[in-house]
Amino acid sequence: MSTKPVHAAQTLYPVAGGCLQVGGIPLTRLAQRVGSTPFYAYDRRLVSERVAHLRAHLPADLELHYSIKANPMPALVQHLAGLVDGLDVASGGELKVALDTGMAPERISFAGPGKSDAELACAVAAGACVHAESEREIRALARIGEQLGIAPLLALRINPDFELKGSGMRMGGGAKQFGIDAEEAPHMLALAAQLGLTVDGLHIFSGSQSLKAEAIVEAQAQTIELALRLAGAARAPLRTLNIGGGFGIPYFPGEAALDIAPIGARLQEALPRVQAALPGVQVAIELGRYLVGEAGVYVARVVDRKVSRGQVFLVTDGGLHHHLAASGNFGQVIRKNYPVAIGNRMNESVEPVSVVGPLCTPLDLLAERMELPRAEVGDLVVVFQSGAYGKSASPAAFLSHPDVVEVLV
Ligand SMILES: *Cc1c(COP(=O)(O)O)cnc(C)c1O
Repeated sequence: MSTKPVHAAQTLYPVAGGCLQVGGIPLTRLAQRVGSTPFYAYDRRLVSERVAHLRAHLPADLELHYSIKANPMPALVQHLAGLVDGLDVASGGELKVALDTGMAPERISFAGPGKSDAELACAVAAGACVHAESEREIRALARIGEQLGIAPLLALRINPDFELKGSGMRMGGGAKQFGIDAEEAPHMLALAAQLGLTVDGLHIFSGSQSLKAEAIVEAQAQTIELALRLAGAARAPLRTLNIGGGFGIPYFPGEAALDIAPIGARLQEALPRVQAALPGVQVAIELGRYLVGEAGVYVARVVDRKVSRGQVFLVTDGGLHHHLAASGNFGQVIRKNYPVAIGNRMNESVEPVSVVGPLCTPLDLLAERMELPRAEVGDLVVVFQSGAYGKSASPAAFLSHPDVVEVLV
């Protein structure tokens, strides 16, 4: 009898009587309560604890924002709205979800390339802060502000001249569709002033999904240097400075959790210097997956168990149409298994199996040759680290299966 090494994510969820508990509810009972599989379940206690953990390590005067694109489920965003200082949105649809929470509009920022005039007008009317990513957006804001008779709240998103090293997804440095190149920023600040716009803040995002504290510390230091340099070209004192995020979570074997203590310590030293140079500026970090990724599981039911030429396949009712990232098709170069368990057989002896979905494509894979307890039809497969970039980042319409349900417990 062999046992399976336990991924750290799994230890966040207690096991009682061999059954995983989510939100204090045994998974089999939760599946009955939801009424159908597959589903995503998000544990509100884990989200709250994650925010508390951050607050304990980060400077008290550093604002914490939630990037809604990681998980836009309205109930989850509502829960987070009560815990964080601001919400970052990247579309008109996300803006609506953010406004519905009751978060003060000036604490909602709207970034992302290619904002339509209609989206910009909604944001201006709402009083949200628009993070302009191009000259066109600056000019459109001036025009829309005039048409509506409302002074737009405006910040500039800057494409830095460096990147977050070892970042899972490159979103700054080099030629990018994001933000205004740092070297163009003085010119754009002047243009905004010429158009009668007040630039309220700067937003510098250099990357995502980093598990290396030193890399994040270095990127934050470079971000602050760049911001202080650019602030000299602004016509009015900056009210806000968003220094990005990039805090990652461990998905794959061999990855260790990010240590945020050194990040907090370095920011504690840096913020007084920022305050001295830019009196009254409010500095923020923006996090998505770090706040919600580990607080969510994806649950699918085994509908068939097959043996093909000696290999066991568990066929489930869930797959890449709900969870593209776990299938390995959301930005991964080499496919690796997310942490997976059989939620109602947590302590049983294991066998090598592959877990697949019902889609007619070999890409529809939730676990490849993994050691899992021997499972039968009706058992519940759990994919951990599924609270971010799950449902909303998956091609739900592919093969016309039912939509996945989401619950916050
Ligand atoms: C996607 C995004 C984030 C969130 O990234 P995570 O890796 O989920 O923390 C933050 N800021 C911006 C500008 C983004 O586009």
